[in-house]
This record gives sequence, structure tokens and C-alpha cells, in this order.
Amino acid sequence: MLRLRDVSTYYGNIRVLKGINIEVLEGEIITMLGPNGAGKTTTLMSVCGLVPPRFGEILFKGRPIQDLSPEKIVALGISQVPEGRRIFPHLTTLENLDMGAFLRQDRTGIKEDLDYIFELFPILAERRHQAGGTLSGGEQQMLAISRALMARPQLLLLDEPSLGLAPKIVRQIFDIIQKINQDNTTIFLVEQNANLALRAAKRGYILVNGRITLTDSAANLMSNEAVREAYLGQ
Ligand code: ATP
Repeated sequence: MLRLRDVSTYYGNIRVLKGINIEVLEGEIITMLGPNGAGKTTTLMSVCGLVPPRFGEILFKGRPIQDLSPEKIVALGISQVPEGRRIFPHLTTLENLDMGAFLRQDRTGIKEDLDYIFELFPILAERRHQAGGTLSGGEQQMLAISRALMARPQLLLLDEPSLGLAPKIVRQIFDIIQKINQDNTTIFLVEQNANLALRAAKRGYILVNGRITLTDSAANLMSNEAVREAYLGQ
């Protein structure tokens, strides 16, 4: 579904991604782990067109997208849930969800997706007229995921969905991420919580200092001694 080929991304003169290769197959959850500052967020930003790569190629279903605008990339079927959620605090839950559907015209489809989201996250239905900024951290994360789903993506990019949330809420969100995946959305997950990420994902990539240092099945990564020591605290 998605392929990054020798992707190098820069901030000014600083090369943050140094020729990375990644493949995401349709229907899977893949995860990317790595230390702070390795370039994980930059990888997702490169895919969604917010920080386009300077070199290399990004193919979505065989089509090069590295030169397309973020809106075009959303329209093709890729949505991002950014780190820190970035919901619109002064807009209500419903208005935030509307923003996620801003490229769509199909009213019936939008209504169906709203029903689907309220089934996934019943609390958002209760909070539909509440300002986004007054929601709890967990509810804001649910809203950020839901807003991305309102574009009806085929590929969902999730950046640190567990960040700053209580363990119980994190488990709830990860259950829903798996449900979204089973409902036919491919998922590219960046996560600091390696334990959770490797349990949810099928395969993983380790990114260190802008380079992929290891890729394997989630099961093999979980039993890899170096990975256990660096990311699983064991
Ligand atoms: P974390 O886990 O801490 O979020 P990360 O792996 O997601 O880290 P990135 O956020 O992609 O890493 O950052 C990679 C490198 O790029 C870091 O050294 C960071 O300081 C730098 N960087 C990120 N955003 C910018 C920016 N807008 N301008 C300049 N440098 C940046």
C-alpha cells in the first residue's frame, strides 16, 4: 500500500531522514520505534506531505505522492493523527469532526461515518456539543483519531497515541485502533510505548538517528535482546 524508497528529509540543511526504506502492506498494522529525535514524526510528516522529502520516492498504491500537497494526499486516502492531538479547542466535537470531512461532498457517507465513530467512541456522542478544549486528554485523543477517520482513509498514520494518557485509557484506545484495523484501515503507528505497539502490530521498524537499523515481525522484535534492552526496559 505504501512504500518509501531511499527517502531523505531535511529541516534546512539538517538531514533528518537518511535514505529510509519502508513498506506497509494493505491491511496490516506496522509500527516504528526509536529513541527521541530519531525522526519518527518526520517520517509521518513526509508521508502526509507536510515536510516533503528532498530525495527519494513515496509510493501510495504504486503512485508517487512525494510531490503532492497535503490536501491531495488526504484525498487519495491517507490521514494523520498528529502527536499532541491538535484538535481545534474552540470548536465543538461535532465541528472538529466536520473539519475532518472537509474534502468530502457525500453527505450520506459522512453521516454513516459519524455513526461509525459514535459507535467506536460513545463518549464522543455524549460530548458532541462540548468544546474540544474542554474534553479530557483521552477524549481529545479519541476525537483526533475520529477526525482523521472522517476523511475515510485507507491508511491511517498515528503519532504517539498513548502520549500523556492514563494506562486504562491507553488500553481502550489501543483496543479501538485494532478494531479500526479490522474494519479495513491499514495503520502506520509511531509509538514510545514499545510494548503496546509491538503487541498491536504485525511488523516493526527501528529508526535510529534517521536510519532504519532493524526490521522484523513484531514477535521477533519483542524477543530481540537489543530491542528488549533499548525499548522494552527488560
Ligand atoms: P520524538 O520521539 O521525541 O517525538 P522523533 O523520532 O519523532 O522524536 P522528530 O520529531 O522527527 O523525531 O525529529 C527528528 C529531528 O529533527 C530532531 O533532531 C528534531 O530536533 C529535528 N526537528 C524536528 N522538527 C524540526 C523543525 N521543524 N525544524 C528543525 N528541526 C526539527
